[in-house]
Amino acid sequence: MSSRASRRLLAKELAAAAAAYQAAAVIPHCAECAKPCCRLDSLVLELEWKQLKSFWRLEESRTAFDRKLSAGQGPEEIRAGDGLYYIHSKACPAYDETHRSCRVYGQELKPLGCTDFPVYEDRGCVVADLRCEAVNIEALAATIAGAVGQEFRIVKSADEEFPFLVSLSARKVGTKRKLGD
Ligand code: SF4
Ligand code: SF4
Repeated sequence: MSSRASRRLLAKELAAAAAAYQAAAVIPHCAECAKPCCRLDSLVLELEWKQLKSFWRLEESRTAFDRKLSAGQGPEEIRAGDGLYYIHSKACPAYDETHRSCRVYGQELKPLGCTDFPVYEDRGCVVADLRCEAVNIEALAATIAGAVGQEFRIVKSADEEFPFLVSLSARKVGTKRKLGD
């Protein structure tokens, strides 16, 4: 198998392992989470206009909304930038506090960032966001090790700027570089 095909296969296996971990260890914990991420106390939600319009049930045009927002007359939890909208410090309107669930779960409107949080595959690594209390990094590393097999060892490293983001990369036993470098 070519090295590109091997990298693709590894990325696929890592993505599947990340998804399996989310399903088994994270999602079942959401209903009893002490700090639900959808309240956006510490996380920032990134939305496109279509999502923002639907979540806030906006009737006006985007131009009119942007004008209001820049004049300080829009919802205070929304900031605009680079064609996107960033929400922080107030619960996402799609969050159902009673049932502790997402009202757009499984729908096209659900942001990809929400689906990926807190564990996702990125460029040959699995990234875990430790701001989610359900993530156990050692258990996740064991899940990944089981998925990729003994041919690989799992190497853990924290992001320098955001140490709550921890990457787990699979390195071929006997090599110093991760597959993908
Ligand atoms: S922080 Fe983690 S456990 Fe809590 S609601 Fe979000 S994904 Fe679920
Ligand atoms: S879209 Fe759903 S998952 Fe994402 S922050 Fe809102 S309620 Fe939570």
